[in-house]
Amino acid sequence: MTEPQWLEAWTAEEGARRVDELFTRSFDGSPEGVWSAPGRVNLIGEHTDYNAGLCLPTALPHRTYIALRPREDDQVRLVSAQAEGMWETRLSDVAPGAVRGWGAYVAGVAWALAEAGHKIGGFDAAVDSCVPFGAGLSSSAALEAAVAVALDAVASLGLAESDAGRATLVDATRLAENEIAGAPTGGLDQSASLRCREGYALLLDFRPGLKPLESGVPVPFDLATAGLTLLVVDTRAEHSHVDGEYGARRAACEQAAQLLGLESLRDIAPTLGGMGIDRALAELEPHDADGVLRRRVRHVVSEIDRTARFADLVREGRAADVGPFMLASHASLRDDYEVSCRELDLVVDTAMAAGALGARMTGGGFGGSAIALVRRSDVDTVAQAVADAFADADLTAPAFLLAPPSAPAA
Ligand code: ADP
Ligand code: MG
Repeated sequence: MTEPQWLEAWTAEEGARRVDELFTRSFDGSPEGVWSAPGRVNLIGEHTDYNAGLCLPTALPHRTYIALRPREDDQVRLVSAQAEGMWETRLSDVAPGAVRGWGAYVAGVAWALAEAGHKIGGFDAAVDSCVPFGAGLSSSAALEAAVAVALDAVASLGLAESDAGRATLVDATRLAENEIAGAPTGGLDQSASLRCREGYALLLDFRPGLKPLESGVPVPFDLATAGLTLLVVDTRAEHSHVDGEYGARRAACEQAAQLLGLESLRDIAPTLGGMGIDRALAELEPHDADGVLRRRVRHVVSEIDRTARFADLVREGRAADVGPFMLASHASLRDDYEVSCRELDLVVDTAMAAGALGARMTGGGFGGSAIALVRRSDVDTVAQAVADAFADADLTAPAFLLAPPSAPAA
């Protein structure tokens, strides 16, 4: 028996105390305030955001905290409990390709807000987080979203006060990650951290040009009343070439859409009034000798359909019935999209054998985390089974998180 390692979320008080202390130790005086933003899990809808499709994330109770104080000049000075030393830049030096390291996520948000026409000055800030890094739970978006609401407050922008304003903050944080941190991610993570609500999942529609109320619809996700728990397993698997593989998947989707004369693969999905998968696959066949393009397309289109149906079930209060969709999603990501790995498959297979109602990888894949929908009374049994399976396979011990649908950046 291997004792499962649980990663508890900090209380708001503990998070605030930590960054307040770090700020006071690193800079003279006190911060103007403390803000925080959650990591996220995606219930379903993987690799669909950059195909203008649907995703269904919830916010984690695990958050990144930031204590911040504006400055008179345009200097940015940052410390993090998760990084060595002080990270510094002048805001005027921030540009695509010009800054490196973790501070790019922070300075990038200030840069993006300034690019959008807001008056943003320099600041000192201290960061601490209980969201695990690189675990597919979006510590990067948690950091960006915490910065966004902090700068929104100190610059009196008022954007965090409405969902439409938060959608504008999503654009800034996504631009920061794409242009300044240099990660070509699709917007799911930032939307989740800024727009999810406690007790709800957020049905995101990435069709370009939608109004905020159409692009993000809260869906009540009452696990507690149903006696259910969402268990997250951080596999702690580290894989190389992750960025290259992500880029290759995006490129395949773009190529397929172009061959079909479509703006995006969304236009195939029958649920969204698309041309239908059979016709799309037939049209791709002459251009796709090894079948790889068609498998990528089949994943994206079937995943959009599963996400819509999963959201319908949740809306009807039938969360206990979504298990088969989670399993189908995992199989599609493993076999057609080829982004799973041994550790993720092991979590899914072991959790199901131990009584989970459904399980799947979550996030981009190649390591990171998996989720399992579990009856509350089975949580310890399932976690124990997964911990034992990893020990038996000589894998690094995974970490376990409980994920009730939690509150957004504030
Ligand atoms: P994920 O978002 O899945 O956790 P990413 O690779 O997208 O993984 O983002 C992780 C990176 O974000 C870290 O390597 C670091 O640069 C930055 N980061 C996130 N949280 C913090 C933090 N609390 N302090 C410093 N850097 C952070
Ligand atoms: Mg990230």
